[in-house]
Amino acid sequence: MTDTDVIIIGAGMAGLTCGCLLAQKGLKVLMIEKNKKVGGCCTSFQKEGFSFDLSVQSLGECQKGGRIWSLLEKLDLLNEVPFIPLEPAREYHFPDQKVIQSSKLETHIENLSSLFPNEREGIIKVYTILKKIYDEFTSVPSSFNWFEPSSFSARYPYLSRYRDRTFAELLQESVSHPFLKTLLSIRSSYALLPLEEISVVGMAGIEMSYFNFGVSCIEGKVEQLPLKMGEAFQKMGGTILISHEVDQILIGERRAIGVKLKDGQEMTGKVIISNIDAYHTFSNLIGEDRIPGGFLSKLKGMKPSLSYFILCLGIEGVLEELPVSNNEVFFEKDLRKEYQSLSKNQISEEAPFYLLAPSKVNSSHAPKGKSTLCLSYKTTYHLSRDWGQQIKDELSRRLIKRASVFIPHLEKRIAIKVETTPKTIEQWTCNRWGAAYGWEQTPRQSGIYRLPRTTPIPNLYLTGHWTSPGGGIAGVVASGELTAEAVWSRFEKGEQ
Ligand SMILES: Cc1cc2nc3c(=O)[nH]c(=O)nc-3n(C[C@H](O)[C@H](O)[C@H](O)COP(=O)(O)OP(=O)(O)OC[C@H]3O[C@@H](n4cnc5c(N)ncnc54)[C@H](O)[C@@H]3O)c2cc1C
Repeated sequence: MTDTDVIIIGAGMAGLTCGCLLAQKGLKVLMIEKNKKVGGCCTSFQKEGFSFDLSVQSLGECQKGGRIWSLLEKLDLLNEVPFIPLEPAREYHFPDQKVIQSSKLETHIENLSSLFPNEREGIIKVYTILKKIYDEFTSVPSSFNWFEPSSFSARYPYLSRYRDRTFAELLQESVSHPFLKTLLSIRSSYALLPLEEISVVGMAGIEMSYFNFGVSCIEGKVEQLPLKMGEAFQKMGGTILISHEVDQILIGERRAIGVKLKDGQEMTGKVIISNIDAYHTFSNLIGEDRIPGGFLSKLKGMKPSLSYFILCLGIEGVLEELPVSNNEVFFEKDLRKEYQSLSKNQISEEAPFYLLAPSKVNSSHAPKGKSTLCLSYKTTYHLSRDWGQQIKDELSRRLIKRASVFIPHLEKRIAIKVETTPKTIEQWTCNRWGAAYGWEQTPRQSGIYRLPRTTPIPNLYLTGHWTSPGGGIAGVVASGELTAEAVWSRFEKGEQ
């Protein structure tokens, strides 16, 4: 006799999605979360009347028909989590030029075509291919065998053709102007990879999950999304154990049979789902001697994504200096330089930085007459050995200096500041090196090569940004749905 049908380790957005869908089917589900609240990366914090979202600033798939919208409809939560559409999605500032990015694909293509009239055909080709790949990838059922070559290329011709290729290769065959290539690949930056390294499949997910159903942010705090899902899960009969950390996955007769918590409690389940760092799951919670050699060496060869240093500021006054857009990014024209520095564990003085003013859209983030501002750099975990105050002060000073070009006297207006480093993200989520999106979306870690949701240990499944399709809230919701589908089908068939 087992204690429960399903145990889910971690209540990030993927664990919650999977848990809600399985509880809705009537299964007995227990979710165990080490933090005092659910949400993982998708969380918020408060300080002295200001509110900040730890990481997630904008989401795809939230408008009518999108994946997140449809999930909330299924859980009867559409009225509980209101979204604000962001149009334009972003404003990019280059040294001598400002480019506005629409969240609507047709407008975006028109805008780029008016900047590069001779390249219109190539621009359309790039987005047509990305859309085809995205449509193919999102239609693959969880039971499909990727490695059956003949059926794969016949059913999924675009995925098959582009599965080993980088976005730079697609651009090479489609457009020629170097600055157009930069503009087309700006959003690879959100996967923290240059166009020469990001896979076409990864880029298709990033671009299309935004363009298909617009770009939105959540009205209020981003953590409302997971908190409401947690409530819905409990109403459907699920149990959440917060402030409890899983220390071990119990194995009996070579199958996963339960978990052991840090405080020594043991629980058993027919199925165990891990929503946490995949490497940690196998290497620490199970132990390398119990993992098949081939799988272990694949895991050891995989590389986590980069992370962020984020400076959250509470500001005196409203940010009238900033234009309409809430969400701005500042780039040099050649994005390769940034990654060259990062590969040496450095952030160059000219590195692009992000400037977000969340309270311009969400006035509840700041007390009346005040504002919030988030300034950030991409970074490696290994930039600093200890991520102590000295490195935080240095990066904060640089960010404030650069943002002062847009917000005069910024330094004097700062009421409070909070720094988030890759170490903060690692401590909060246990994601190795504070990886923001699970594994990097390089060709050998994307699409069919990313970890599947089934594992070599019977009864053990994975969900979340370490699995296919990958990081970002829309991606992990897709992963949660696919894991739930695979687990439900075995209960339906009566498999134990
Ligand atoms: C700085 C930053 C900015 C981002 N910006 C965006 C954005 O704007 N838009 C977007 O769509 N995505 C963004 N992302 C990515 C997105 O937040 C993540 O891909 C997604 O939230 C990951 O969800 P998950 O469910 O896979 O895992 P996680 O959110 O990592 O959840 C895992 C959960 O497991 C828990 N856990 C870990 N170990 C244990 C254990 N042993 N026992 C019990 N519980 C455990 C953790 O506490 C956590 O709650 C950003 C990420 C970061 C870090």
